[in-house]
Amino acid sequence: MTEKIKKENIVIVGGGFAGVKAALFLSKYSNFFNITLISETDNLRYYPLLYKFATGANQVLVSIPLTKIFQNKKIKIVHGSIASLDRSTKSIHLVDNQTFNFDKLILALGVVTNYFGIDGIEDYAYSIKSEAEAMKFNRHLHDYLIANHQPDDHYVVIGAGPTGIELAAELPEYLRYLMKIHHLGRHAIKVEIIEALNQLLPRLPKPYAQRISKKLISIGVSLKLNSKVISQNDSEITVNDQTIKSKTVVWTAGVANHPFYKANNFLITQHGKIACDIFLQAEDNIFIAGDNANTPFSGLAQTALHDGQSIAENIVRNHFGYQMKAYKPKNIITVIPVGPKFSAVLWGKKKFYGFYGSVMRHLADIDGYMNVLPWYSALALWLKYFHRRPQTCPICQSTNGQN
Ligand SMILES: Cc1cc2nc3c(=O)[nH]c(=O)nc-3n(C[C@H](O)[C@H](O)[C@H](O)COP(=O)(O)OP(=O)(O)OC[C@H]3O[C@@H](n4cnc5c(N)ncnc54)[C@H](O)[C@@H]3O)c2cc1C
Repeated sequence: MTEKIKKENIVIVGGGFAGVKAALFLSKYSNFFNITLISETDNLRYYPLLYKFATGANQVLVSIPLTKIFQNKKIKIVHGSIASLDRSTKSIHLVDNQTFNFDKLILALGVVTNYFGIDGIEDYAYSIKSEAEAMKFNRHLHDYLIANHQPDDHYVVIGAGPTGIELAAELPEYLRYLMKIHHLGRHAIKVEIIEALNQLLPRLPKPYAQRISKKLISIGVSLKLNSKVISQNDSEITVNDQTIKSKTVVWTAGVANHPFYKANNFLITQHGKIACDIFLQAEDNIFIAGDNANTPFSGLAQTALHDGQSIAENIVRNHFGYQMKAYKPKNIITVIPVGPKFSAVLWGKKKFYGFYGSVMRHLADIDGYMNVLPWYSALALWLKYFHRRPQTCPICQSTNGQN
């Protein structure tokens, strides 16, 4: 009589890049594992194009339904939010009181926005960290123009990281498009990036950052470095000792690790990440992936995908009695779009800029989609990126601001 091998319960929490990648890999071994993916959102949020969605692109580019990703895969998808971990019973509890027992747990909860307690920012600044936030910001850009027949005095983007740069660089063209289809005439547009440090992209090489600064200035985006946001109210923002009139302030300047970890007594490093061993385990059989893990390139989608894959491979190895392999960080390629037809690429020591950079960026996006979708679905989705802007307003369905 053959002995039936017990299937291992793998519980993955977080339906982002890391969680999805791990689940996809493990689904190939569904005869050996019961796989449960628990996530607060029903979609994989494709963050790299959120700035595009905030400036008028189609939502399908940034929201990929988990049901589509896991179509025909033996994965149980649960909509829910993790509340606590019970180490003694190897179980997790969700906010709605459901309990899941695990043999192995993968946690990939992503990060949350951090406003550093700056007065008024959380109440008055926009953010683009979710589809809902990006949509709200997009609606505001439109509604302000229609109500005032002219642009805001200043469009202020706080934070000169990749997200702040990408968004700020896209704004002049998008606002001109909105003004054109609503026949509002030509108006000057003032977009400013505010950065507390003395350089944009401080973790990247200076010449690369300088080239991006030059490009930003050439498309009309000004940079205020060494500038600390002090407070914001409904009509202005105070930066150092100067007041800037604006109803359009976007916060892209800070994130913090997910509060679940602190609440559940994980060891947190001085960088705010979760301490892990060489297999990305915070504790035996509890793996940490993506933005949460203390790895050299944490904070990038490419890293999160790599983490999810590495952890899943080790879980399979371990199941079949092989040694797990030590985690090796993946070298990353940085590609930052600065306006619709220019991207800055940093690939090891090589740097290149402009149209070829944009081609690289498009290739990176199709690769991102292909990591989670079959190639034909990834290609179909990616092609939607190239849709031309409609001449009828996608928000108010009019060419003159009237419904
Ligand atoms: C605006 C923006 C632009 C970016 N652009 C780029 C870029 O161009 N290139 C790049 O490489 N990286 C980019 N990043 C970073 C990249 O998106 C992240 O590094 C990546 O998403 C991390 O993947 P993750 O799986 O760790 O977390 P996430 O992708 O954030 O996924 C976390 C998942 O956990 C779920 N979750 C959260 N809390 C709970 C809970 N309590 N219970 C259950 N589920 C929960 C969430 O719903 C989500 O599905 C960008 C980030 C932002 C915010």
